[in-house]
Amino acid sequence: MTAQIINGTLLSQQLRADVSRRAAALAAEGAQPGLAVILVGSSPASQVYVRNKVKACEDNGVYSVLEKYDADMSEAALLERIAVLNRDARIHGILVQLPLPPQIDAHKVIEAIAAEKDVDGFHVSNAGLLMTGQPLFRPCTPYGVMKMLESIDYRVRGAHAVVVGASNIVGKPQAMLLLQAGATVTICNSKTRDLGHHTRQADILVVATGKRNIVTADMIKPGAVVIDVGMNRDDNDKLCGDVDFANAKEVAGFITPVPGGVGPMTITMLLVNTLEAAERKAASQPERASKQ
Ligand code: NAP
Repeated sequence: MTAQIINGTLLSQQLRADVSRRAAALAAEGAQPGLAVILVGSSPASQVYVRNKVKACEDNGVYSVLEKYDADMSEAALLERIAVLNRDARIHGILVQLPLPPQIDAHKVIEAIAAEKDVDGFHVSNAGLLMTGQPLFRPCTPYGVMKMLESIDYRVRGAHAVVVGASNIVGKPQAMLLLQAGATVTICNSKTRDLGHHTRQADILVVATGKRNIVTADMIKPGAVVIDVGMNRDDNDKLCGDVDFANAKEVAGFITPVPGGVGPMTITMLLVNTLEAAERKAASQPERASKQ
């Protein structure tokens, strides 16, 4: 059996078309959605990520500002910039590209972002809302994964979902979203004994470790949905995921490729979160939006 590929690029195009349409409707009311992206330092990978985010905004009718600072920026200066953006009415979403240089406490920075502009969904208040089943912003990568499951009409309710990886930005929120959708969820981390014992029970297997080939074909239940969040480089420096794709696709029912799987969905869901923040703001100030 060869798995059906869940094409994140194609699904992203469909979702982005909807973002463009809704962003244009808001812009017509004088309430164009706006995203501020902050980059501290000059890590090549981070530069590519922020460039892609800003380009996605430009392509889909979302106003964006990119603020770049030197790696020696002080924590106080960054907090001051966030305070300014929190007050800026044109900005509905604020994203600080991680990781930050060592002199800056990332937790402090995330908590400084106004919760209603925290489009990454990392603020403790948004993490708490997600945990208690009333999410305001769903973190972009796990939100994208849920959209991928929706796109194949997968019945998550009652399924056994296994999430490999338990980070605050992917694994934990992923587990919460799957739980809320009615799945029975197992979360694995680096201390898990006999990872394959758990993954072989998964109807839905989400892998987010940053460890190439951590999941091999023999660790997959035949017919399972396999979602590969990992981003690694293979021996030829080509982008690859955490799953041994070539062999896994002969066992899985559905599988996401890397590249072209979860990656494009993450940026798409950032646009969706920014758009929804702008829609909420416009709905709370209908008169102001129509007069602008
Ligand atoms: P992270 O913060 O490094 O977390 C990795 C998680 O994997 C940790 O919970 C760790 O367990 C767990 N882990 C490590 N080795 C393991 C093992 N042998 N067995 C089971 N679990 C293991 O990474 P992250 O930020 O979640 O990102 C994970 C991967 O996804 C990376 O490759 C990253 O580049 C990629 N990513 C992709 C996107 C996208 O848009 N496609 C977005 C975000 C991240 P402990 O908790 O025990 O340390």
